[in-house]
Amino acid sequence: MALKEEKYIWMNGDLVEWKNAKIHILSHVIHYGASFFEGIRCYKTPRGSAVFRLDDHLKRLINSAKIYRTESPYSIDELRKATIDLIRSNKMPSCYIRPLIYRGYGEVGVYPMNNPVDAAIAVWDWGSYLGADAMEKGIAVCVSSWTRPSPNSVPTVAKVGGNYINSQLIKMEAVANGFAEGIALDASGFVSEGSGENLFMVSHGVIYTPPMSSSILGGITRNSIFTLAAHLGLQVKEDSIPRELLYLADELFFTGTAAEISPITSVDRIAIGDGTVGPITKQLQREFFKVTRDGEDPYGWLTWVDGKPNH
Ligand code: PMP
Repeated sequence: MALKEEKYIWMNGDLVEWKNAKIHILSHVIHYGASFFEGIRCYKTPRGSAVFRLDDHLKRLINSAKIYRTESPYSIDELRKATIDLIRSNKMPSCYIRPLIYRGYGEVGVYPMNNPVDAAIAVWDWGSYLGADAMEKGIAVCVSSWTRPSPNSVPTVAKVGGNYINSQLIKMEAVANGFAEGIALDASGFVSEGSGENLFMVSHGVIYTPPMSSSILGGITRNSIFTLAAHLGLQVKEDSIPRELLYLADELFFTGTAAEISPITSVDRIAIGDGTVGPITKQLQREFFKVTRDGEDPYGWLTWVDGKPNH
């Protein structure tokens, strides 16, 4: 889906016109991948526009930078304010939000520490990530021939641009073979995650998801599933998942800011359960939509763009 131009992008404290939001070709980030970033959604609800788990995303952004010995030039309070101001300035009732902290222009060479640390936030319109029908009908996925990086090569807990070179290989291979997405295994051969989503499996009424040690990003939607499942009285277990258990699962679904809760109805052309969206997946989607579509906020997950509604 082509990007539609909005009015402003926030760069290092200023609102810059969209077409002028540029960096130098010799900026360190372009060559060596040091861009710590987030993907966040702002939802239009009947109670007003609200950003989903904004502070948790900003905290993860700061932590991603910290792993790479990089201090954010802006505090969480400053980034929160900048995000809300930017949504208001662009007059967007709903949007996808992309904050970035990156190594800018100064020196070339792998060593990043002498380069400035710059920050930017962009917002744009982004609909369904895995296809228009994905959320309702589910998607066909494959197990990728690419694995996630081993824990002692590239840390997957940091959400950093360089990690997405591995994601691109997974996604391109999946699409080339006619699948919506690929599931990568970790370096030990256990199930890890999608190119940009966490994975959940339902088996005999219990929900399983790979642990942090399976080279995953600690997804904020993943964490939200823990809360929503507990609310529904469902058990979630973080456990290593051998590939073949995917084929035998009753239900499978992806979670992510872009993908939200996307059911998976087949893996490697093998039907999951009866090949339709399962009841636990639907139940979790309903609870998720109460927050993100209806604007109910029992867990304190929403930051209101125009102030907290009093109804
Ligand atoms: N894993 C990867 C590799 C991702 O890029 C994302 C998207 N940020 C996720 C998982 C899901 O994370 P979240 O729910 O925080 O969007």
